[in-house]
Amino acid sequence: MIRRTKIVATLGPASSDAKTLDKMMEAGVDVVRLNFSHGVAQDHIDRAELVRSLARARGRAIGVLADLQGPKIRVGKFADGKIVLAPGDAFILDANCALGNQERVGLDYKELPNDLERGATLLLDDGRIEMWVEDVVGAEIFCRVVQGGVLSNNKGINRKGGGLSADALTDKDKEDLKTAAALQADYIAISFPRSADDMNYARKLLREAGGNGMLVAKIERAEAIVALEEVVMASDAVMVARGDLGVEVGDAAVPALQKKIIRMAHKHNKPVITATQMMESMIQSPIPTRAEVSDVANAVLDGTDAVMLSAETAAGSYPVEAIAAMHRVCLEAEKDREQEFQSKRLESHVEKVDESIALAAIFTATHLDNVRAIAALTQSGSTCLWMSRMSTAVPIYALTSEVATRRKVTLYRGVYPVNFQQDTNDREALLIAAEEELRRRGAVREGDLIVLTIGEPIGQSGGTNTMKIVKVGAYKKQTTH
Ligand code: PGA
Ligand code: MN
Repeated sequence: MIRRTKIVATLGPASSDAKTLDKMMEAGVDVVRLNFSHGVAQDHIDRAELVRSLARARGRAIGVLADLQGPKIRVGKFADGKIVLAPGDAFILDANCALGNQERVGLDYKELPNDLERGATLLLDDGRIEMWVEDVVGAEIFCRVVQGGVLSNNKGINRKGGGLSADALTDKDKEDLKTAAALQADYIAISFPRSADDMNYARKLLREAGGNGMLVAKIERAEAIVALEEVVMASDAVMVARGDLGVEVGDAAVPALQKKIIRMAHKHNKPVITATQMMESMIQSPIPTRAEVSDVANAVLDGTDAVMLSAETAAGSYPVEAIAAMHRVCLEAEKDREQEFQSKRLESHVEKVDESIALAAIFTATHLDNVRAIAALTQSGSTCLWMSRMSTAVPIYALTSEVATRRKVTLYRGVYPVNFQQDTNDREALLIAAEEELRRRGAVREGDLIVLTIGEPIGQSGGTNTMKIVKVGAYKKQTTH
């Protein structure tokens, strides 16, 4: 059985050497995430190069997701590295403070005092510390600690309920976009977008920098929930970024929002990644908890394209085991679904020719006996994206000579990249070569059916407009007897 849900793994100190990365590929990673919240540009460039060279050696395609830091608001540094806050303590967030102490600490976002008023609740360090705003005077925010704890250098600050004005793209993000374009990231994740405008602006900057990657909107801000449909429509893919989202809207609201975001992504035919703390205990443990297993399985049942690992693979002790655990949990969860064609698709109106061929291909593959593979001969991969938006248990092979397309489809549920050089314009020869390639991979055997899609006339670029059903071995028999 082939896993349909894809696995995204964040790279970091625990996963930057060739040996570990190679084992991660063996365990089943599909996409690596470069987290621009950490490290310098060269770290990410080096990692992307290493991953691609290892993938080449394995004859595989691995996608690269560059995840920009975004306007994560942080406290400054403390003279002693950290302080301990108790409930009831007074504490000042001071935009002008250079080095923090028990009384006050600085801010990297100098505008924060302008965004707050008495009564606002602030959550620090992913919600571990809570304080409310008693007063704002000039650059100083006077707070009262509700829930205490250790507060150390550069921890994040969120406002409960959202409403901070910080732009989605900081100066650092704009630089990082150039790095992402230069390293030809297949996916670029924008952190904390509030609106379609934020995504459109990011797209403009990325294209100006020469990047062709797909833009992922990280849904992690209360404003993005209000504007969910327009944000999803302005993006190429979506991430349920449960870490910051949980801080902004309250952790209890996240599970239902996850389902809502995935539904919205499906409605607009966008791939979706479910992220954060999926296998959190595996940072220190070789096995996941029952709750984590259940969480990953439920994301699969919700219809996510991909599940993501963060610190588990970036900084944990068991990066390979975490991927292996996700792999087996996804496989098992997938047994529950995707056997049937979604009949509501039959009522939907279709605007594009390739979309209509994709619909026909999935319908046929699901209803005709003995179809073991869908082979999409594609340049851009868009037919495969349409196909993967419909649920099917039949694997979809993206046969393409374009390396960028092979890397891009790594995120699409149920789609597998195949390096296929289209070195003839002879239609029959091409279809036989495609059949041979799938047979060589063990995807099909003599007598199986393949649903093939292709753009004609062959050799001219243009969209997919043809579907054909091929019986493996039949054509050869015809010609040799
Ligand atoms: P982050 O995004 O890990 O970059 O913060 C994901 C999330 O917030 O869940
Ligand atoms: Mn986040």
